[in-house]
This record gives sequence, structure tokens and C-alpha cells, in this order.
Amino acid sequence: MRSYYIAGNWKMHKTVSESVALAKELKAQLAGCKEKLLVAPAFTSLAAVAEVLKGSNIVLGAQNMGPEEQGAHTGEVSVLMLKDIGVRAVILGHSERRHSYLEGDTLINKKVLLALKHGIEPILCVGETLEEREAGKLESVIGTQVKEGLKGVDAAALKAVTIAYEPVWAIGTGKTATPEDADAVHAYIRKVLAGLYGEVASKAMCIQYGGSVKPDNAAQLMAKPNIDGALVGGAALKAESFAPIALFR
Ligand code: PEP
Repeated sequence: MRSYYIAGNWKMHKTVSESVALAKELKAQLAGCKEKLLVAPAFTSLAAVAEVLKGSNIVLGAQNMGPEEQGAHTGEVSVLMLKDIGVRAVILGHSERRHSYLEGDTLINKKVLLALKHGIEPILCVGETLEEREAGKLESVIGTQVKEGLKGVDAAALKAVTIAYEPVWAIGTGKTATPEDADAVHAYIRKVLAGLYGEVASKAMCIQYGGSVKPDNAAQLMAKPNIDGALVGGAALKAESFAPIALFR
């Protein structure tokens, strides 16, 4: 049976106690869930949530990490620190990092390679703005983000990478790409991947969709052949909305 990867990005929300409470609810409600599950709390809550998730089927993820292993990098959190507290995956290149903090493909690629070097699974986010889409640049923008983000990642390491297609205009706006539109972009990403790694690797790749995924649209999105999961923002902040997405089938 096809498996799906459902990830919740808690962004800059929740204190430690709020994060622990949500993690406990999800652990209980999703105990029987067959999908691959991930939650990505804020850095300050990671260690406490790691304790709660021990022995559960939910993977602990971070929302970002620094591009260096360690050193004089004020304000950064390193891959070694994340690994040390039980983080197993990291969201990289989220559009909020690209647009608000001006992270470019070269920096994101450096983080992808560093995460892989230390056995942390990257979720590489790609997505176009509305202006880019309307200017007919969708494929060139997505193609560049995929190719540059994966530069230097060999075929063996690719298995640990997930791509999240997140149209910027659909994040936190309540506007979802139609399942057909999203699937078409996922198919294009697969084509780019096939060019880089071959058909077999491209077909095996997990490509999540993100952008206003909710309990009432999750099943339609994931019914599409190229949509292998969801990266969820707003709806990941409450068990009552994240659990039904994870339990969509
Ligand atoms: C996100 O930020 O990754 C996201 C998809 O947010 P939302 O679900 O709120 O659109």
C-alpha cells in the first residue's frame, strides 16, 4: 500500500508547556496511524517534545538549522545540537525563510548537505509566488529550487530527502491549489527529479503538498497520484485539525 508522510510545522507558536500538551494529544490520537508522521515544534520546545514522543510513531523535526556544524554563529542552532536531542528531520527552505530571511538556494543547499551528512532527513520546500506563477515562471522557479537545493546530493542520499511543494500564495491564506493544479506541479517536480536521478528514483521520491491543507481537503489532495503527503501549518496547531488530516484514510 502507498504510504503518506504527514508533517506539522508549528512555526513560531506555542510555549514549552503548550507544545508538550499538543504532543501528548497527538501521541494518543495517532497511535494507530499508519502514515509517516512528523511534528516540528519551535527550537525551545524540541527537547521537551522529544521526551513526550519517545516510543511513539511521530518523528521529531526542526523547522530550520544553521549551515555550519558549530562555531561563532550567534543565534544559530546546529545540526549536532538537533541530533543530540533526538531530532530526526528538518524543514529547509520554507518560503518564510526564503522570503522573510532572504535564504537563497545556495544556503539552503548547504543545509541540505549538512543535514544528510549527519543522518537528519531534510524536507526541502519549494514553491512559487503568485507573481511568478502569473508571469509564467512556475516551472523555471520550481526547477531551479529543486536542482539547486539538491546539488551534490547523490542517488543513495536522495532516499532520505522529501520535497514539499508549497505555493507561496497558498500558505496561511486559506487558498489551496486545486488537487489537479498541485498534482501537475508535483508531476513536473518528478520530471525534474527523473532528469537528475532517473525514473525509478523519481517515482520513489516522497513529494508533500503544503498550503492551507485542512481536514476537509486532505483526502482529495492525497488521492492524486503525485501527492505523497502534506506539510501542514495552521491546521497542525490543534490535535482536532491535525489528527483528522493524518487519519484521512
Ligand atoms: C506551511 O507554512 O508550511 C503551511 C503549509 O502553512 P498553512 O498550512 O497554514 O498554509
